[in-house]
Amino acid sequence: MNHGCDEYDPNSLTVEQAQALIDRIVEPVSGRERVFLRAALDRVLATDVTAPFDVPPHRNSAMDGYAVRSADLPAEGEARLAVIGGSFAGRPFAGELAAGQAVRIMTGAVVPTGADTVVMQENVQRQGDTIILAPGQRAGDNVRHPGEDMQAGEVVLEAGRRLNAADIGLLASFGIAEIDVHRRPVVAFFSTGDELKGIGSRLGEGDIYDSNRYTLHALLERLPVIIRDMGVIPDDPAAVRAAFAEAAAHADVVITSGGVSVGDADYVKQTLDALGKVDFWKIAMKPGRPLAFGRLGEAVFFGLPGNPVSVMATFILFARPALLKRAGAIPVPPLMLKARTQNRLKKRPGRKDYQRGILAQADDGTLAVDTTGLQGSHVLSSMSRANCFIALPRESGDVEAGEWVEVIPFAGLF
Ligand code: AMP
Ligand code: MG
Repeated sequence: MNHGCDEYDPNSLTVEQAQALIDRIVEPVSGRERVFLRAALDRVLATDVTAPFDVPPHRNSAMDGYAVRSADLPAEGEARLAVIGGSFAGRPFAGELAAGQAVRIMTGAVVPTGADTVVMQENVQRQGDTIILAPGQRAGDNVRHPGEDMQAGEVVLEAGRRLNAADIGLLASFGIAEIDVHRRPVVAFFSTGDELKGIGSRLGEGDIYDSNRYTLHALLERLPVIIRDMGVIPDDPAAVRAAFAEAAAHADVVITSGGVSVGDADYVKQTLDALGKVDFWKIAMKPGRPLAFGRLGEAVFFGLPGNPVSVMATFILFARPALLKRAGAIPVPPLMLKARTQNRLKKRPGRKDYQRGILAQADDGTLAVDTTGLQGSHVLSSMSRANCFIALPRESGDVEAGEWVEVIPFAGLF
């Protein structure tokens, strides 16, 4: 298939077009499972969660102080109220407040019947069983109302949400012990290349260690997926074919790195052509121009480029959203910010650049971004030092120091 669209290279897709096509093709896996709340972090909710009761469930105090009737607050002069008891968190005051009375109250404790206001203890003078109030208190202050946070029946978490620490706490506040989440898709991945050696073996002439498989494993560990590491596959058509067949048999998503160019030892594309349904894409981006995408049996297939920075960029931009969608998650677009570049950035029009940058707040409070220096797609240290991508539009040429650029912080992405 040819999605010709690029005025610079008629055979390449823009990043946005590729993302839209992937989103159109990838479907969530079916199947759900019930997990304990403690095992639910980062999992994807399979159903909406509605509040079974109001939170907070009762009227309670936001401060340590005294519960009073607003009618007793002095407009001028001072008021003297009799302290008739205490209301503590988990141990409410049993009686009712009458005119001229107050109850000592702690944060989170039930506001007693008859009271409608809590006066902070710092604004009260206590003499024995009497408190003295000065003017300046407002009716209703420091009282939290039932349902103020969440109301019974309200959808508080939607199906497709990836649960974070706040969500886990929220579910616990409803006494929910177990929840239904989507099954985690199985992701099989392997590296291709005769030069790749496993950690622990000796490097011969021209060999390198297979770093992509470790990068990919780490990237995948951040996602709600089951990881199947299939190792290194040599640049041999039969071996690549066997690996594809094995991966397709048990995975929901298959990811490879390397071998997607058009070199003599690049077998990923032709194997996909033979065993699956393939779109081979040139993407108008840098790093990471070649990307094989398609279907391999029931699995979604990503053939990522071999260069280590390209692997990360294409994973983050294309594979990660697809994996999340496959896992049932509602997409959450990455945060994009504007920052002022501190350096001149070299850029050729025609491809969208994802340069590596270090984002920080400048003295004037605005965001500033520094380049990490060398931007080759093999320079993995640039990814390691960076905390953001600097995304330069396809049409853009060189960017001068001081210009505003778009940055995508890495936080939360890997
Ligand atoms: P390829 O796409 O197979 O032509 O690989 C492009 C470049 O990435 C070559 O320099 C490869 O040696 C390198 N490369 C490919 N796979 C890996 C890997 N798993 N780990 C580290 N470098 C790799
Ligand atoms: Mg190779």
